[in-house]
Amino acid sequence: MHNAAAAAFMLDLLRQLPDITIRLGELGAATYGAVSFASRTITISNCVTPNEFRSTLVHELVHLARGPAYVGDEDLEERLASTATALLLVPPEQLLAAADPASVAERFCVDYEVASLALKLAALHHREVA
Ligand SMILES: [Zn+2]
Repeated sequence: MHNAAAAAFMLDLLRQLPDITIRLGELGAATYGAVSFASRTITISNCVTPNEFRSTLVHELVHLARGPAYVGDEDLEERLASTATALLLVPPEQLLAAADPASVAERFCVDYEVASLALKLAALHHREVA
């Protein structure tokens, strides 16, 4: 997904979600973000770095746009949200397969987890293109 396409997708996403509330809050130690579908509220941990904030916000927006997971599909839904987040924030076309997660995280202002997943997706992308 090119930058312009990713930006257009994000705008569409946000237009579909005009009544959301985004707030900072205290979450569990390993939890960066949470979404309440009932109140359409995204809570982001007040302990995250700016890159974690950006990555988490997009991840939770994707969850909100997709809706709650069906019972039993929670892990799949989590993987789908993480994949969409990585593709939106780190377009595979812009990655060299040999890049390392730390430099990708710095360049694209995302957290290490998003950078690592983006590199795996880019490797698949490059394999398809080659
Ligand atoms: Zn999630």
